Amino acid sequence: MPYRAPVQDIRFLMDTIAGFGAVADTDRFADATSDTVEAILTEAAKMCENVLAPLQRPGDLHPAVLENGVVRTSPGFADGYKAIAEGGWIGISAAPDFGGMGLPMTLTTAVNDMMSSACLSLQLNPLMSQGQIEALEHHASDEIKYLYLPKLISGEWCGTMNLTEPQAGSDVGALRSKAEPNGDGSYAISGQKIYISWGDNDFTENVCHLVLARLPDSVPGTKGISLFMVPKFIPDADGDLGERNDLRVVSLEHKMGLHGSPTAVMEYSGAKGWLVGPENGGMAAMFTMMNNARLGVGVQGLGVAEGALQHAIAYANERKQGKAPGTGAIIEHADVRRMLATMKAEVFAARAIALMNAVAIDMTTATDDPKWKARAAFLTPICKAFGTDTGIDVASMGVQVHGGMGFIEETGAAQYSRDVRVTAIYEGTNGIQAMDLVARKLMDGGDAAFALLEEIQDITDATKKKFPNLAEAVWQAIENLRETTEWLVAQDDLTDRFAGAVPYLRAFARVLGGHAHLQAAVAGDASRERLARFYINRLLPEHASLLAHTRTGSADLMAITPDDFAA
Ligand SMILES: Cc1cc2nc3c(=O)[nH]c(=O)nc-3n(C[C@H](O)[C@H](O)[C@H](O)COP(=O)(O)OP(=O)(O)OC[C@H]3O[C@@H](n4cnc5c(N)ncnc54)[C@H](O)[C@@H]3O)c2cc1C
Repeated sequence: MPYRAPVQDIRFLMDTIAGFGAVADTDRFADATSDTVEAILTEAAKMCENVLAPLQRPGDLHPAVLENGVVRTSPGFADGYKAIAEGGWIGISAAPDFGGMGLPMTLTTAVNDMMSSACLSLQLNPLMSQGQIEALEHHASDEIKYLYLPKLISGEWCGTMNLTEPQAGSDVGALRSKAEPNGDGSYAISGQKIYISWGDNDFTENVCHLVLARLPDSVPGTKGISLFMVPKFIPDADGDLGERNDLRVVSLEHKMGLHGSPTAVMEYSGAKGWLVGPENGGMAAMFTMMNNARLGVGVQGLGVAEGALQHAIAYANERKQGKAPGTGAIIEHADVRRMLATMKAEVFAARAIALMNAVAIDMTTATDDPKWKARAAFLTPICKAFGTDTGIDVASMGVQVHGGMGFIEETGAAQYSRDVRVTAIYEGTNGIQAMDLVARKLMDGGDAAFALLEEIQDITDATKKKFPNLAEAVWQAIENLRETTEWLVAQDDLTDRFAGAVPYLRAFARVLGGHAHLQAAVAGDASRERLARFYINRLLPEHASLLAHTRTGSADLMAITPDDFAA
């Protein structure tokens, strides 16, 4: 089943729901004209359909392997990467001074969405580079910027992020890798990092590792962590590659999915590195990369969901079984129709949230307005967790639509399900995202949340005449969410917030999805209205049980003892 990039859906969402017009109206993004947007989406779509999508299955069947210390990538990945790099798709939002296009993050998001549907395991490589580019733009010295950014943006070199160690997963502050000053401005980096995505490859000239490590005598925890650029080959001042650095891939992980992406255990043995950002200020610099990747990983989830949806629709239109009316295909059965409608409505909601997030990031860049900054920060964990949960749920439903054939690898339905599973785990598990939402992101007393709710409630008010019942349901859901947000803000004991964090995040996404579908019904055709009715009548009501779960607090949960689980 060939992948068809959903360019029209993306454009509709950008323009009518996410508010991209406001971004294009700013001086900063004046180049993002309607024609430019159209050209970018159309060209990227062609590459995803014709070059990347055919690599999806070979990547699964022929995983990257480590041979005599060298990573050999899956068949065709080198050409796929070349197409991504030569198309300029790594640096869509990167600074023009270093070869980037300087276009909005919203466009990067749209292109990443399509690339993730087409071939997730390859797309993870440029996603890592995009995050590294942003981190360097904001935190690196001019010397590092001039040396590394042009090559990362052109794709000649690629970037990785190195946080995780065996004892330091979610708790990054527990990391032990060391950095000793060499006395010449460089540092000797030693330690082991695990699960490093695209830790090496055989198609870029260099691999640039951003590594978190501790200086001697640094304080424990996250305040004693610094960030270093540690290249595989050390470049001279002109960017020509010199000696090989003291780092190596020890092994590659055997994974449940995402086989085309080499996930490496890395050993640094006094490798030369250069500080990015101030000493002991590594977490702030790494957070730039992590926030970029959190949006990107949420988009990976919804991208895979789109691919799984397209497969399921095609199969449901062909497969005949039982006494189905109309065409006689299984798409005519009410339960199959329910699954497909759920999948389609969820992809639409997750895409709307991701684009709203990207627009908030672009408005922050363009205006420096703290309100946009708070909006972007608030939406990021929702986008990451809901986008990836949607990927998992939709891909699983895609398997179900295929019946037994869903469990047989050749349809590709199972691969979506296996590949996307990790997206809820890496880049901060979805549990950690939800905790971030109810703690750090509500530290403003809920201002960012309430401002967003007020805005969408006003928009909903304006639709009451055209769609009284749908608008009333969305309006009431926003009201319920506002009340639970007030309850959360009033809880001083963080455990009471954390116990309901995941259901709260999902409820927030549900309500944003209701808002997006309602606006789609207003601005779109009859087909969009039918999907909106499905979502608002059948999926949105879930928010009420999620909010009830949230408001229950932690006492009954924490009363269940570890021994009870063994009983
Ligand atoms: C395929 C793959 C690729 C990856 N790529 C990279 C990469 O490129 N770079 C990199 O640095 N890392 C990478 N990772 C690592 C990934 O980010 C971590 O696996 C993830 O952060 C979780 O850490 P952990 O595996 O140690 O799980 P743990 O931290 O042990 O978590 C186990 C469970 O406990 C929960 N938990 C942990 N702490 C808390 C808490 N304080 N409160 C509540 N619940 C908690 C978690 O939510 C989870 O459910 C990758 C992982 C995989 C599998």
